[in-house]
Amino acid sequence: MIDYISLENKYGAHNYKPLDVVLSRGEGVWVWDVDGKKYLDCLSAYSAVNQGHCHPKIVKTMVEQVRKLTLTSRAFRNDQLGLFYQELCELTNSHKVLPMNSGAEAVETVIKTVRKWGYQIKGVPVDQAEIIVCQNNFHGRTITIVGFSTDENSRTDFGPFTPGFKIIPFGDAKALEAAITPNTVAFLVEPIQGEAGVIIPPQGYLKEAKAICETHNIVLILDEIQTGLGRTGKILAEEHDKIEADLTLIGKALSGGFYPVSAVLSNTEVMGVLQPGEHGSTFGGNPLACAVSRTAMKVLIEEEMIENAANVGEHFLDELKQFKNPLIKEVRGKGLLIGLELSAEAGGARQYCEKLQAEGLLCKETHDNIIRFAPPLIITKDIVDWALERIDAVLNQH
Ligand SMILES: *Cc1c(COP(=O)(O)O)cnc(C)c1O
Repeated sequence: MIDYISLENKYGAHNYKPLDVVLSRGEGVWVWDVDGKKYLDCLSAYSAVNQGHCHPKIVKTMVEQVRKLTLTSRAFRNDQLGLFYQELCELTNSHKVLPMNSGAEAVETVIKTVRKWGYQIKGVPVDQAEIIVCQNNFHGRTITIVGFSTDENSRTDFGPFTPGFKIIPFGDAKALEAAITPNTVAFLVEPIQGEAGVIIPPQGYLKEAKAICETHNIVLILDEIQTGLGRTGKILAEEHDKIEADLTLIGKALSGGFYPVSAVLSNTEVMGVLQPGEHGSTFGGNPLACAVSRTAMKVLIEEEMIENAANVGEHFLDELKQFKNPLIKEVRGKGLLIGLELSAEAGGARQYCEKLQAEGLLCKETHDNIIRFAPPLIITKDIVDWALERIDAVLNQH
């Protein structure tokens, strides 16, 4: 049999440390390895597979579209783009869309856009624009983005970095107010910090941040690449705080995990500053991406995945909170984005992820002591109960 793991290790860059499970098939919440062993996927490719693996309707759209037209570049128009824009705006209550591919590209796009808005509309002196970001943020892996990361692993030895960013504590509205200068153009923040370990800010934080941004004429940018599209039990996590960001970033589940599709959503005049030729992407807005994404959005609504994320997520979280295990420091979450933080005595989350793998449950540690549970949004209460039994057993094996 082919030794897939050795092949990866020999020929691939070692920029990941995956669990040693080699997957070859997926359906709904389940995946199978090359030996035919079945697992519950509790990561959903970092929330890109919210709709479940290989959703049959998205498969159908993808296959049909791939036979018709895949890429035209934006030099020409295509018959999917306008409909994609319209449906995405209706779904998210936005006015304008700028389509890209990866999440990091959407972040780069928004940085360019708010800087230009700062110079042209707000009147910030040229090259002086400042963007405020938060400690422990995760917005992607480009040089500019890792330049304003506070995770040493992400940034050490990758400099020099792009200037123009200011870092404040997450969840602290006073710190935001204090960091603002006349040159501040935007505040970029995740509604819940996913990669940092499912960190939920204090109640009302986003609402306060929104008010502060309005007062100081600053663009509020929410990075909902992980929290968006149903993950937290709402279309966008901002709805929990009953606010609307000026700009919102989405990606990941925008294609149901079939294809890299991301977008910047805008509700203000900000997007209007971009003129032809100033920004773009060969693949951004291509007909295959648009068609796949249209169906990915449609099934999210039609199959009531968002309501399910709210209901089943609440059950999952409530049950985890009942666990009486001294190794558990805290359980927190919203919808189906759940973090279980282990105490220092537990000896690191990785070993528990490996034990869960043996029990047929795939999870990934985030940082040393946190396990994130983020299964596809189609998961049922019964399957969650099945998972809970195994999580309980593994945590008791210490
Ligand atoms: C995954 C993620 C990104 C980056 O997306 P890529 O597609 O990996 O570039 C940005 N922001 C958040 C919050 C994410 O979770």
